[in-house]
Parts: sequence; C-alpha cells; structure tokens
Amino acid sequence: MDEEEVKIGLEVHIYPRTECKMFCRCSASFLESPPNTNICPICAGHPGAKPMPPNAQAVRAGIQLAAVFGMKAADKPVFTMRKHYFYPDLPSNYQRTSEPLAVGGAIGECGLREIHFEEDPGQYDLTKGTVDLNRSGVPLLELVTEPDMRSSREARALLSDLLLALEYLQLSRAEMPFKVDTNISIGGGNRVEVKNINSLSGVVKALDFEASRQTELCSAGKSVEQETRHFDAVNGSTLPLRYKETLEDYRYMPDPDIGPIRTDNVVYEQQENPFLILKRMTTEGISGPDARTIIADRHLLDAHSRIAAVCGPRFSSVFVAGDIRAELNYRKSDSSALDSMMGGLLEIAAGRSSSRLSNLNATMLLRTLFDGGSIHPAIDELSGGWYGRETINDVAARAISEHPDAVEKYRKGNMEVLNYFVGLCMKEMRGKAKSADIISALRGILDADARGSEKGK
Ligand SMILES: [Zn+2]
Repeated sequence: MDEEEVKIGLEVHIYPRTECKMFCRCSASFLESPPNTNICPICAGHPGAKPMPPNAQAVRAGIQLAAVFGMKAADKPVFTMRKHYFYPDLPSNYQRTSEPLAVGGAIGECGLREIHFEEDPGQYDLTKGTVDLNRSGVPLLELVTEPDMRSSREARALLSDLLLALEYLQLSRAEMPFKVDTNISIGGGNRVEVKNINSLSGVVKALDFEASRQTELCSAGKSVEQETRHFDAVNGSTLPLRYKETLEDYRYMPDPDIGPIRTDNVVYEQQENPFLILKRMTTEGISGPDARTIIADRHLLDAHSRIAAVCGPRFSSVFVAGDIRAELNYRKSDSSALDSMMGGLLEIAAGRSSSRLSNLNATMLLRTLFDGGSIHPAIDELSGGWYGRETINDVAARAISEHPDAVEKYRKGNMEVLNYFVGLCMKEMRGKAKSADIISALRGILDADARGSEKGK
C-alpha cells in the first residue's frame, strides 16, 4: 500500500496524576475501590449539586505537557463546556469538557491541534446492567493531533514520545497512562474513527487492520463509509459501532456553574525537556532505546548520572539500562530501591568499567547487593588494587579545596553535595576506592572545617 495516501490522526486521553476528581474532592483512583464508593452528589450527577472549580493539578499537568511539545497556551479565558449525550454511565446527561488549554506545537513531524481537559464518565457493565460511578468525574487530558501520520509505525513513534514525556514529568497515572481514539482515511476517502484503544500495540493493530480493510474495499470498487468503529483487542480487528453523532448532536454550551479559568495564571515547576536530555545522551553515544529507558524513570536517571560521572556515559547507560534494569525486573522491585544502594552500585560499576571485575563477578555482586547483602569484603577480594586511606584523604582534601562553592552548600545543609564529592574522588581514583571510605574521609575534613570556622567566629 502506498503510504502517501494514508492519513492518520490520534486523540489521546491521558489520566493525569491527581488526588481528586475534576470537579469534586472524591479520590481519583478508581481501579481498586469497590463499586460506587468514591462518589458524592457532584460526580454522581445529583440534581442541584454544584461543581467545584476545575482541578488545578489537572490543568497544570495539561499546560506542562503542552509546553514540552511547543504548544501555545490559550490567550483567552478557557470555559468548561457541557457536551450532551445520553448513556447509562453519564448521570447528568452531559460530559464536561473544556475549551483548548493550548494549541499548535508538534510531536516529531506530526502537528498538534489542541489539548483540553474533560471528565471521564462512569463505567456501564453491558452484560449485568450495572453502573459504577467511581470513574465518573475523574480528570482526563485530551491531546488531539493533526492527521499528519502516514503509517502505524509513525503513530507508534508519536505515542512512544508522548509516553516518554509523561513518564519523565510524572504527569500521568502509572497504572493507566492513556487510552486512544484514532482516525484513519485512505486515498482522500471517508474518515473512519476507531475508539477506546488502551495499549500501544492495540493502536498499531487497529490501524493496520483498518488500513487493509479500507484498501480492500477501495480495490473492490466499494466506498469506505464514514463511521465510528470499536477495537476488538482479542481478535485485533475493528467492528462497527451503532451510534453516529455529529458535532451538532452534542449541543455544546458553556457550563453556567463553572467560571472561566486563565492558563496564564497557571504556575508549574519548569523541568528540563526530556527530549533535550535524549538528544544530549545520543550525542554521548548512548543508544536510543537505552536513553529512553533511563529518562523514563527518575531513579534510573539519577543512578545513571552518578555512575556516568565516574565511569563515563556509554558504560553507565549499558550498566543502568541493562544490568541494573534486569535485576529490578527479575525481582519485580520498584526502582526507588536504587537510592539506598548507590554506594555499592558505584563500586561495582567502577570495578567493572576499569576491568578489575569480570562481567560474571560484577553480576554476582549486583545480585548480592539487590538481595540486601553486603558486597564487602567480596568486592575487595575479587578486584584488588584499592587505594589506601592516605591517598583517599589526599584526593578528598584536594576535591574540597578546589570547590569552595560546594563546601558552602554543604555547610548550609545540602547533603547532596557529598555525593558530588564522592563522584569527583571516584573519578580521580578511577574507581579504586570504596565509597564508604571516601565518604568518611570527606566528612572528616568537611566537619573538622566546620568546627574550625565555628571556633574562629
Ligand atoms: Zn465526587
């Protein structure tokens, strides 16, 4: 099939990481609660129940995500609209959905149309006829792309980039980052929408299925109908949905209970753009997949930057995205466990990168460390050639005298500085010293200095 003729657009619904629902204070985590327990008159749509102002956390997440992709924040107040339709999971018979928070921008080559917030409806069980409203009112951000993609491969790449940003900024719920509606047309024909796909592989399957279904129709001389289809995840196919609405059917109107919000008042913590980090890592010779693995996880990124300072970025990326990641996966442990192991990880990494430790021994020591055991004295016996206390003291003293700014920060209680100094010393000694010994040498000097300057006052 000629890719030139295919036009694909996506509407991605993202569950932002918020404590509360969009317009009330009910908990926004709906997966584990018994049915209809996280509800109140507002999200259950009781007559007369007045909504609270839009959840600021959700709005902030939307603006922050928009900024990463160069979208332009709305330059006028944003109203919340009512989108009317009837379905058992929607007790108020309208869904609240905002005007665009931001417009324009791009992910890779694909243009973005807009991002807005909305509330999720409840869940209707078709077979039992029951409704669970725990999900009703849960915040959603909807990111709409232009129909600029030409293949399922491009759609997958766009979603991977979106996921990377969401993970790096920790904006989406870990248990359920997004669900996707796609639209696809072939050769300028009618547009078909496929709704409610909740995995990356599902999006690829649905698009591939639709592309070949529509191509077959066209080559048989039949026309493709404009319709909405449902994705059957089990069979990897799409099926027609009965209903078909047009924009007018929804009778959009501004919600009179909710005032407009201004996006230029939204304050959020400006973090580094994950794609700039990706670019930097790639120029350092780190592979794309390894870089993405590391950027997507704060603890891996932290471990990488510390290990890279001692052993170089290339080695570190393979060690972190490969060896360390494998141990975490094998144990199904959370990466936050790494923080308490940094000293040991640095020693093993330094030993391995300087070839004092064999691959096998490094893996063995890593397992010991992850199992909560001590790598001493085993690491000494396996590697050998450590610097003595005097050398460590000298190196520590030199690092301290050369960085008065960092010492100042340490005095003000910034303990992170200690890790910085450990990194400097490790680098200087090419890993041939134990982090515990370096720390005690550093502390000895820094704390004696502090006592000295106290007396001097
Ligand atoms: Zn509620």
